[in-house]
Amino acid sequence: MKNAIRIKPGNVVFVNNPFEVMRRAFKQLYPKVPVRIHFRELERDLGLAELQPGQKVPHIYVDPRQTFAEVLKTLAHELAHVAVPTDAKHGKRWRAAFKAIRSECQRIVGRS
Ligand SMILES: [Zn+2]
Repeated sequence: MKNAIRIKPGNVVFVNNPFEVMRRAFKQLYPKVPVRIHFRELERDLGLAELQPGQKVPHIYVDPRQTFAEVLKTLAHELAHVAVPTDAKHGKRWRAAFKAIRSECQRIVGRS
């Protein structure tokens, strides 16, 4: 393989890491929106986005006890909530943000 990149032993490289792809997609679409993402078991929800009173950075919590595909879908779902005003709920603006995040992820993966 003439153009192959040599990877040194001991190096671990993720190619198209879906979490990194989603982080880049969100940052590309909403560069001024900060967010902190946690993976932890939740009692009632698969995912949760919240902005505590007095805090400037919203936090997203995703329960990792879902399938891998569901974790990614839940993360995109909660990122869409962070991207739009709270009163958007699951309406038109939220759906547009959700679609944009997923489309941008596809675009990033497609060009790498
Ligand atoms: Zn929701």
